[in-house]
Amino acid sequence: MRRYSMRQYELVERVTRYNPAADEGLLNKAYVYAMQKHGSQLRASGDPYFSHPLEVAAILTDLRLDDATIAVGLLHDTIEDTDATRSEIDELFGEDIGRLVEGLTKIKKLDLVSKKAAQAENLRKLLLAISADVRVLLVKLADRLHNMRTLQYIPVGRRVPIAEETLEIYAPLAGRMGMHDMREELEDLAFTVVNPEARETIVHRLSELGAKQEELIRQIETDLSQRFDERGITATITGRQKRPYSIFRKMERKAISFEQLSDIFGFRVIVPSIDECYTAVGVIHTTWPSVPGRFKDYISTPKQNEYHSIHTTVIGPRHQRVELQIRTEAMDRVAEYGIAAHALYKDGVALKIGKGHPSDGDAPRLAGFNADVRAYEWLRRTIEMLAEGDTPEEFLEHTKLELFQDQVFCFTPKGRLIALPRGATPIDFAYAVHTDVGNSCVGCRINGRQMPLTSELRNGDEVSIDRSEGSTPQPAWENVVVTGKARSAIRRGSRAAVRISNGVITFILGLY
Ligand code: MN
Repeated sequence: MRRYSMRQYELVERVTRYNPAADEGLLNKAYVYAMQKHGSQLRASGDPYFSHPLEVAAILTDLRLDDATIAVGLLHDTIEDTDATRSEIDELFGEDIGRLVEGLTKIKKLDLVSKKAAQAENLRKLLLAISADVRVLLVKLADRLHNMRTLQYIPVGRRVPIAEETLEIYAPLAGRMGMHDMREELEDLAFTVVNPEARETIVHRLSELGAKQEELIRQIETDLSQRFDERGITATITGRQKRPYSIFRKMERKAISFEQLSDIFGFRVIVPSIDECYTAVGVIHTTWPSVPGRFKDYISTPKQNEYHSIHTTVIGPRHQRVELQIRTEAMDRVAEYGIAAHALYKDGVALKIGKGHPSDGDAPRLAGFNADVRAYEWLRRTIEMLAEGDTPEEFLEHTKLELFQDQVFCFTPKGRLIALPRGATPIDFAYAVHTDVGNSCVGCRINGRQMPLTSELRNGDEVSIDRSEGSTPQPAWENVVVTGKARSAIRRGSRAAVRISNGVITFILGLY
C-alpha cells in the first residue's frame, strides 16, 4: 500500500504547533476512521482516496483552524462516499462534527445538480446550505483547492466545467471571505484550464520583463528601507508581481493591452503600529510622487469584511507605477486569512453563525486594531451579506441574483433541495416533494424539532414531514399555503374527502 503524503503524527503536530490545546485524541480518531472508511478506494490520480481528505486537512492547518474543523476535513467525504452514516459520526465524534460533515455532504449533492442549473442559483443554494456554520464553507474551499491542484488527473472534458465553477463561485467566495491567497491560487489553477492561451501569453510577457522587474523591485525595497531607517520605522517590505489571472482580469475590465498595464507589481509594507502606517505613507509620498485618486485609507474606514490597510500608488523609479499597501501585522493576518484569521479559539468556542450565539460576547480582539473588532459579528454580517446578496457586484450580475430574492431553499432529510416562494410553510414543502406526501401530511419537524405545519420556512431549514396513511388535507390549509400546487391539491383532496363523508352520511341516513 502506498504511503500518504502525511503521517498521522505529522498532521497532529501541525495542529498542536499553533494550537497546543488541540484535542489530539479527536484528530487521531478522525484520521483512523476516515482512513478505514475510505479503505482501498482510489483517486483519479491512482493515489489512495484517503490522501485527498488528508490533504484537505493539511490545507486547513495552513489556515490554522480549530481541531473540529481539521477533523471535519478528514471526515468530509465519508458520508457521501463510504458506508459511514451521520448517526455513526455523531456517536463517535459528537453532534457538532456530525452536522458539519452532513453540511458538506449537502453541498456535494448540489455539485451534482449544478451541471444543469444556472450558476447563480447554485451559488445561492450553496451559500444557504452553509450559512449555518462557516466552517462548512472553509472545508469546502479547502476541498475545492485540493481538487483544483489535482485537476490534471480528471478527464479533459470534465476539467473545464469544474474550473469555470471555481472561477465563478469558489474563488470569489474565498475573496469575499477575505482569503486572498486561496482566491489567487484557485483563480490561477482555473485560469490554466479555462484559457490556457491567454495565461501563456501573460506569463511569457511577465518573464520577458523578468530580469528588469527584479532589479526594479530590489531598488524600491532598498530605497524604502533606507528612508524608513532614517525615520526609525521598522518595516517589512515585500514586493511581488501580480498573478497572471488578476492581470488578465484587469486587461479585460479596462479593455487595455499588456503594454498599457501600468501597475503589474505591488508592495506590501508591514509596520508595528497604526501610527507608523501613517508615518510610512508620509515617507513614501515624499520619496515618489503619488498618483491622484489612488490613495485609499481602509484603516480609518475599513472595508465591510474588516479589511484594514492603506493603499497608494506612486510613480516610482523609471516612471514605473507602483502600488503599495501599508498595514500592521494584525491587519495583515486578516488580509491574508480573512475569516480564517478569526477562526481559532480557545475553549472550543465554535465558529457559528446564528442568532443569539452564546459566544457573541467573547469575540477575540485583534491586537493592534483601534476598532473593537468583533469577529463573530463580522462573520455573521459577512454570511448574511453573502446570503442576501446585498452587494452582488463582486459576484454575479445583479439581475441574476434578484431572481432569488423571494425564494427560500429547504432540504429534505436526505438532502434534496426544495425551492419555495418566501412565506412557504411545511405544507407547501410537503406538496412540493410529492402530492401524496402533502395529502397524508399530519405534522413536521424543522431542523429536528417538532413544529406547527403553519410555520414559515426559512432558508436552509431541513424539513421532515410526518405522514399518516388515510388522512386527508384540511380545507383550512388553503389559507396558509402560498404555492399554487399545494392550493389546488388541497382543494381536490378536501373535496374528495367531503364527497366521501357525504357518502358516509347518506349511507348512515339511509339506514334509518
Ligand atoms: Mn472531497
